[in-house]
Amino acid sequence: MQQSFRSVCVFCGASNGTNPAHRAAARDFGAALAVEGWRLVYGAGDIGLMGETARAAQAAGADTFGVIPRHLLDLEQGRQDLTRLVVTETMHERKKVMFVNSDAIVVLPGGAGSLDEFFEVLTWRQLGLHARPLFLLNTDGYWTPLLALIEHVIAEGFAAPGLRDFVQVADSVPALTEGLRRALG
Ligand code: AMP
Repeated sequence: MQQSFRSVCVFCGASNGTNPAHRAAARDFGAALAVEGWRLVYGAGDIGLMGETARAAQAAGADTFGVIPRHLLDLEQGRQDLTRLVVTETMHERKKVMFVNSDAIVVLPGGAGSLDEFFEVLTWRQLGLHARPLFLLNTDGYWTPLLALIEHVIAEGFAAPGLRDFVQVADSVPALTEGLRRALG
């Protein structure tokens, strides 16, 4: 059955990082999800930017869908009070459940885990396996080195120029929200 609301998958750090702007942006985006009536799909943890986003989304009344592997329930402080919680057996299963339940993907600042998640969605798009919009929230230029790397890969002939078109970059939460509004119709 078709969902009557839109779901936004948020990949982001299990840490807060050193720049307080990232926590503030995560909180603002969590609240924006509720205002827009979008469901948050995320990694279910209560730590780092993940926790910030979800607490703000939940406090503002958003529907929250968390997906976490059993072995990370303690480490990432898996939340039990979400609208829906799915506990998976593996990391791969986690990413799959998050992906199939989403209409758009947003990557906030994060570490290796967030990069893994970003590149999986990007490479699946490159292979034509999906057409979901993919956004990077580039708060304070956090992802600018990643964007430079993608340009380098294209310039060196290891990817088609179209690769960059699969990534939408927003410098602020209002710009991200506006981009999602356009993308989700
Ligand atoms: P990080 O950006 O490194 O702080 O990680 C963000 C989130 O990604 C954490 O919840 C990690 O558990 C998760 N993560 C890391 N690697 C993977 C993976 N291969 N599949 C699914 N989730 C992952």
